Amino acid sequence: MSEYLNTEKAKERLAEIRNELPRITDPFRRFELIRQANEIAEQHGFDAVPYDFEADSGNTDEGRINALYAVVEELSYRYYVLDDPYVEDMEYDRLLHLLMDMEAEFPALARDDSPTKRVGGFRMNTFAPVEHTVQMGSLQDVFSHEEVREFTDRVTGDLAKEGEKPSFTVEPKIDGLSVSLEYENGVLVRGSTRGDGFTGEDVTANLRTIPGIPLTLPENIPLLEVRGEVYMGREVFAALNAELELTGGKLFKNPRNAAAGSLRQKDPRITRKRRLDIIIFNIQRIEGKDFATHRKTLAFLRDMGFNVVPDSPADSTDAIDSLIEEIGGSRGTYPYDIDGAVVKVNDLSQRTLLGSTAKVPKWAVAYKYPPEEKQTTLLRIEANVGRTGVITPVAVFEPIQLAGTTVSRAVLHNQDFIDERDIRIGDTILVRKAGEIIPEVLKSISHAENSVKFTLPAECPVCGSRTVRLADEAAVRCLNAECPAQQLRRLIHFASKDAMDIEGCGPAVAESLIDSGLVSDVADLYSLTAEKVTGVGKLREKGAANLVNAIEHSKGAGLDRVIYALGIQGIGSSLAKLLADRFRNMDALLSATESELIAIDGFGENLCSSVLSTLEEPHTRELIDKLKVAGVVMEQAAPANGSDLFAGKTFVLTGTLPTLKRSEASKLITDNGGKVSGSVSKKTDYVVAGEEAGSKLVKAQELGITIISEEELLRLIMHF
Ligand code: NAD
Repeated sequence: MSEYLNTEKAKERLAEIRNELPRITDPFRRFELIRQANEIAEQHGFDAVPYDFEADSGNTDEGRINALYAVVEELSYRYYVLDDPYVEDMEYDRLLHLLMDMEAEFPALARDDSPTKRVGGFRMNTFAPVEHTVQMGSLQDVFSHEEVREFTDRVTGDLAKEGEKPSFTVEPKIDGLSVSLEYENGVLVRGSTRGDGFTGEDVTANLRTIPGIPLTLPENIPLLEVRGEVYMGREVFAALNAELELTGGKLFKNPRNAAAGSLRQKDPRITRKRRLDIIIFNIQRIEGKDFATHRKTLAFLRDMGFNVVPDSPADSTDAIDSLIEEIGGSRGTYPYDIDGAVVKVNDLSQRTLLGSTAKVPKWAVAYKYPPEEKQTTLLRIEANVGRTGVITPVAVFEPIQLAGTTVSRAVLHNQDFIDERDIRIGDTILVRKAGEIIPEVLKSISHAENSVKFTLPAECPVCGSRTVRLADEAAVRCLNAECPAQQLRRLIHFASKDAMDIEGCGPAVAESLIDSGLVSDVADLYSLTAEKVTGVGKLREKGAANLVNAIEHSKGAGLDRVIYALGIQGIGSSLAKLLADRFRNMDALLSATESELIAIDGFGENLCSSVLSTLEEPHTRELIDKLKVAGVVMEQAAPANGSDLFAGKTFVLTGTLPTLKRSEASKLITDNGGKVSGSVSKKTDYVVAGEEAGSKLVKAQELGITIISEEELLRLIMHF
């Protein structure tokens, strides 16, 4: 959810969007804006802005379907490749179904490689490719009991023609990522991701770190390939995100993305730390054994020491319906997230009779549960002080079970949000949690007799300084840079993994360093010695020596990390990298002008003014000087495994390239210092166009951007 705007600002922003839309031709950019407009409209009860892809299309059916393709492709890319979904699953599913409807209406316009026809993942080249002997398909999803009945009726009808009668099983659908495990003579030889269903990635080393995966089997079976879902347990996920939040890292949106991101690490030690787990739900191939039913295969897999999905038999549609409800109702009792229930035909020979499409088996469907909303009582509102001094109201309510987790807190954005919804302490409130992890307070349902209005405190709850609301800002801030809450958060951020990566300087140590008075700004870290810190908090001699070593080591972290570590509002680690690539050393960045910044792709006016105003502040300059004097490296080195050939250059990929997958081309560009963006703008330097390039190519031509082929891209790199 983007920032909450008050009614006036919301109207202004909506008007801006309506003005901007007719000028925008990139379908995904239009989608982003319309989505933003609808979020604002929903918050304030204004009329929604429909998106029918009409305007992208020159009003042709072909234009509409192409626009929808472009949006779905970009969403899939963000979900599968970046592990950073842009929309909730429900929204993605809705668009995918819209695309199916359009393809059914205009079959001549349907693409062979449509996301409706292929398994969602992308094949990446971070790891060695693995060709799957048995395809790893997806599942047809349905959203109502009627649709489940349509499925069972179809299966029953088809099997009746063969003189067969089906029985079914119902299983929870684990929300993780699909992997295959191959055993030869009872020994794990290979593990791979699903990829595009035909070719996945070899992640054996990482899978070996998952304790739930047996490395050897109790029986010497010549060949066994099983399929399962790797997941991150809810508690592990909550702890990981809590740590990332404290250390200023980017939070994972949900356990699925956290699991996917953790499994695809180059360093298996990181995967091990992420404490993933697995549930097995299918035999892909086996030699030397024969089974008649799915349930028998699951029983066998249990005997082989696998964690196996719980399955329940169902012989009637009523039984299926009630099992779906039962699983949905007890989502909280599973250690993993569930996004649906899978209904499968039990008899394996019947499955063969029913067959599969290129994407999904015809003998199974996945019922997807809708987002949950529940009422509860608002107990109190806490005021939390962030790194930049912003004081955020957080609702603390009577704990409720939502989408399988217990929730008791939700951010209330700012004072306007609370006032406009008239949310008072003691109220009955409505809370929702969709696929995303973060629950949101939708509204106050009713005030209790003794409900109390809430106003953010006039004094900072930590340092007692007066708080202010700056003109043009929705947020209330504590402006005291010495506020211990801010010092602590800044220090934790500075030392965090994506910033200076100072091992051993986690939240507890950071707090002791501030409490002891040894550190008040982050540059003080560099004057610490082992003698000074021994005895601070729980630090003993060895811990103190390690900490001082880690601090020393961090001096060479690199310019991009230093920029990120400064904690400039809006500058995450990828934007910090862009700044480092563009300016190459801190002095050049300190004398950057607005026009230089705005020329960088991804930098709008707000971001530029945030960078410029922070860098102009005397205390930022002082801090940078102190860091320099301490020996922190403020220059950008050339990338270790590639070149900086494309430094500062932005590429957009469009269409199907003759030999490279999109992810492969992206990697080549980023390995050589370039940036890949999803949409074409004036800031794009090159568009790499393949076959059937669509609106992005047209836009690039309109804007006069250099268009190159895959071959030209490769030539540029090879001749470097
Ligand atoms: P899917 O996740 O809906 O279903 C197929 C998967 O279910 C299989 O790969 C399998 O591994 C898994 N599964 C879990 N438990 C199972 C069980 N008991 N039996 C059989 N299989 C089981 O389909 P998909 O093709 O993997 O991905 C589509 C999903 O990804 C949708 O939920 C979609 O919303 C989401 N998605 C979201 C976005 C976004 O932007 N939010 C983008 C792309 C895809």
